[in-house]
This record gives sequence, C-alpha cells and structure tokens, in this order.
Amino acid sequence: MTERMTKKGIGMPTLLGIPFDGQSSYLRGAGDGPPKIREALHCDASNEWTESGIDLGALGALDDAGDLVFSDNNTFEVIEPGIGKLLAAGRRPVSLGGDHSITYPILKAFAQKYPELTILHFDAHPDLYDEFEGNLLSHACPFARIMESGLAKRLVQVGIRAMNGHQREQARRFGVEVVGMRGLPAYAKLKAAGPIYISFDMDVLDPAFAPGVSHREPGGMSVREAIAHLHAIEGDIVGADVVEYNPVRDLGDMTATVAAKIVKEILGKLIRK
Ligand code: MN
Ligand code: MN
Repeated sequence: MTERMTKKGIGMPTLLGIPFDGQSSYLRGAGDGPPKIREALHCDASNEWTESGIDLGALGALDDAGDLVFSDNNTFEVIEPGIGKLLAAGRRPVSLGGDHSITYPILKAFAQKYPELTILHFDAHPDLYDEFEGNLLSHACPFARIMESGLAKRLVQVGIRAMNGHQREQARRFGVEVVGMRGLPAYAKLKAAGPIYISFDMDVLDPAFAPGVSHREPGGMSVREAIAHLHAIEGDIVGADVVEYNPVRDLGDMTATVAAKIVKEILGKLIRK
C-alpha cells in the first residue's frame, strides 16, 4: 500500500499486482504477468487516455498499491486481506494476475463489503470444475468455489467456448448465466443492478490477438469485441481483475500490450462512475 493511500482516495481505482501461478494446471508463467502489464500500461508508445475520454495520468485518477508478496503456501491468506485493506480504505481494487485461482480469495474479501455482487466473467472457460486433478483451488475451479460459498448474487459468463458436460451441470446447479461465443454480442447481459465485479481472463480473446496465455482456445473475441463489451457494462463497478496473461507464451510482448489496453478501458469505466 502506498503512502498516498489516504482518505482522499475514496472510490479511487487502485492497481494491485498478484504475481502467483501456483494453481495453474498446465503451464506456469502467469505469475510474471503484473510487471509486464504495468510496463505496457505506462509505455510511451501510447498516451494515458482511455477511448472513453478519461485521462488516467491526471492527478488522483488512479493509484497503484504495488505487488503482493508471498512466502511458501500462504498465497490465499495474503490475497484476501490484501484486497480487504484496499476495500476498507474505500478503494476499487483492480488486480493484475496471476492465474485465475486468485479470483476466489479476492471475491472472499469483496463479499464482506458487497454481499449482493454481480460478477461479469470474461473467459474461454467456465472455470466451474468441482475439482481439477484432485485440486479444489485450481485455476479451473474458482467460480465453483465462489458460487457454492455464496460470494456472488449473480454470475454472468461471456465468451465461453470450452464448456463440457460436468461444467454445464455445475452452471445449472449454481444458476450461472452463460453466454457462449456463439451468442455474442451480449451487450444487454452486461447491465446489472447493484455492485459489479469484472473478472477478465485474457484467454477470452482469440489467440490470434492474445497468444500470451497458457490455454489458447481458438474462436475467441477480437480485442475490439472485448472492448465493446466492456464499454457496454452499465452499473456500479466496484472492482476487477485481469488474469492469465502468461509472458512465457507471449510473442514480442504483444499480449502485454493487449492486457494493458484491457486494463486501461476497465479503469476508464471505474473512473467515469
Ligand atoms: Mn479463467
Ligand atoms: Mn480461461
């Protein structure tokens, strides 16, 4: 947490790096994502204005709480209070992952403050496995844990294209509103009453646009489609995460630039409020 974290920052979007990939089922690397996304976000190749006309470089528009630091096996015990501290200071945390397992402890903290949360989840995968290879906390499982713990009122998934029988059953069990790639655009699904949390898995994008992910799933969104859906969100956005950017799989930092663009447009939505 920075020294600037004062009472003046109520409602201020605040970046928090979560450099963790210990629950990835297939490849490591996403833990190295946060500094690469930050670097792309502040790169002089672009300016700091969002497409919606918000200047992220303006004094007081945005804060950065740095990265969480982990020792062995205490990741989730660090993430929940890390987010909780920002929420207690009135901030709107925007987490940079990290693999998607981090969304479960993040949402544990959010649910304390916002019991009626709507989650807008962008992903190729539903991440609803009851367990994956015997692991309940795998990055394939966070939304099963979140829904069975009652951490959200609604879960809307957008861009899904790797549904299977088990997860379809899980989606039915938890009342998840699933919009597959074939059902896009889905702008009307992105208006919600009450607080909204955005969870953006980079693999919702087509690997042609974002190869730097662990699980490349063809047939995904273009960057433009993703931004159009982010811009269509209506409601009180209280926080977000952008996860699963994997620098090891990236080509010339291309996906870092895309992740930064997504973060930028999400921040624009948070600041506009
Ligand atoms: Mn995911
Ligand atoms: Mn995914």
